[in-house]
Amino acid sequence: MNLTTTQRRSLHGWTAIALSLCLLGALIAIMTPRAATAQSQEPPAASTYSATYTVVAGDTLAAIAARFDVPLDALVELNQIADPALIQVGQELRIPGKAALLLLGVGETARVYARPGETLGTLAARLAQDPEVLAAVNGVTVTARLFPGQPISAPVEAVPPAPLRFGSVTGFGYPPELEQGHTGYIRLTSARPLSPTVVWDGRALPLFPVDGDPARLEALLPSSAVQEPGAQPITVTYATRQGVPVTRTWTVNVLDGGYGFQTIQVPEDKMDSLDPAVRGAEEAFLATLWEPVTPGERWRSPFTRPLGPEYATTSSFGTRRDYNNGLLINFHTGQDFGAPVGAPVHAPITGTVVFSDLLTIFGHVLVLDHGEGVYTNYFHLDKIEAAPGETVAPGQEIAQVGNSGRSTGPHLHWELRIDGVAVDPMQFLEEPLWPIDR
Ligand SMILES: [Zn+2]
Repeated sequence: MNLTTTQRRSLHGWTAIALSLCLLGALIAIMTPRAATAQSQEPPAASTYSATYTVVAGDTLAAIAARFDVPLDALVELNQIADPALIQVGQELRIPGKAALLLLGVGETARVYARPGETLGTLAARLAQDPEVLAAVNGVTVTARLFPGQPISAPVEAVPPAPLRFGSVTGFGYPPELEQGHTGYIRLTSARPLSPTVVWDGRALPLFPVDGDPARLEALLPSSAVQEPGAQPITVTYATRQGVPVTRTWTVNVLDGGYGFQTIQVPEDKMDSLDPAVRGAEEAFLATLWEPVTPGERWRSPFTRPLGPEYATTSSFGTRRDYNNGLLINFHTGQDFGAPVGAPVHAPITGTVVFSDLLTIFGHVLVLDHGEGVYTNYFHLDKIEAAPGETVAPGQEIAQVGNSGRSTGPHLHWELRIDGVAVDPMQFLEEPLWPIDR
C-alpha cells in the first residue's frame, strides 16, 4: 500500500492509541519472562524479532526501510512517525521482523534444540553465543528454563552441523575421512541458486551445477600429498538475500597417506634439475597451464591406464624424496612407470592438448586439459603425437615413452592435477573421477 504523507498522518492519528498498545505488547514480549513461550512447541514468530536502529547523518526513512527490507509503512507505523521526511540524527527507530536480526549481529538463524535441564543462559554458553542476543531473538529471558527439545533460534554459524541445514543451504555432502593425496567430492544443495565460495586446503574450489541445476553444486576435493593430517576445514560462504555473508565450516579428517621415502643421487651433469632457479621457473610455468577451469564433460567413468599393464610402477605418487643428501627435499608429484623408449602412451579420458614442447628438466612434456580444472601431464617423453588444440579420445596413442630432460632412465612420469593440486592418479584407474550417483 502506498500512502501519501497526508494519508500517513491521518492513519497515524486514527491508530495512535491502538499502535501504542501493540507496541507496548511487543516490548513486553521481548523484555519480560514468558512462561507461555517456554511452554510452547512453536518457534518464535518472525514478529518476535525487533531491535533498535540509531539514525545517522545521510539516512532517509526510505533508505532505512530499503536497507532492512521493511515496508516503509510498517516503519512509519511502528515508530509513530508523523512526518517521514523529518527524522533526526540520533533518533532511535525500532526495526521489526527478520531485519532486526541484522541489528542484533545475527545473520541467518537455524534451529537448535534445548537439552534436559537447560536454561537459555546455559544453551547460549554451549553455543558460545551472547545470552542477551539469543534471549532477544527468541523472546525469552536469559534465566528462562527450557523444556527438553524446545526449539531455539540461534545464529546459523553457532548451530552444530548435524541437521545439515543452514539458512538457504539445505544439504551438504562430503567425505568424513580422506587420505592424503586422494580426491573426494562435495555436494551442496540450496533452497535457491547461490554462488557460494568453498575453501579447502587454502584454495577456493570451482563449483559446478549437477545436471545444470544451479541449486545443486558439486566440486572435487583434492587433498595434497603433504596436507596436514587431522581435522581440516571446508569453509562455505554465501550471501543471504540481504547481502549478509554467512560462513559455515565443516571438517574432514585427513588421514596419513603412509607414503614411502626415497633417497636419490643426481649425477653432476644433471645437477641443474636441483637448481631452484631452473626448476622453480619450469614448475611456475607449468602451474599457469593448469589454472584455467574450462568447460568440459564431467567424467563419470574410470581412467584407462596410460601404459600397457606390462609396464610396472617404479616410483609411486607421494613418495618423499631426498635428493643428494638434503640438497632438495620434496615429494613425488606423479606415478612413474618403467618402460623402454618408444612404448606407446595413451590418453586416459577425453582431453584437449594444451601444451607439447621440450623443457630443460621435465623434457618433452604433454599436458591434457580434461575440463573443469582436471589436467594430466606426461613428462620425459621421446615423441609427442598430438598437437596443441587437438582433442584426444580415451585410449588414443598420444606419445611415446622417452628419457628426455633430466631423467635418470627411460620411464613415463604420469601426473594428475586437480585445481592445480598434484593428486594420486592411480585412484581413478579403480573408480570414476566424478561420482556416478546423482
Ligand atoms: Zn616421476
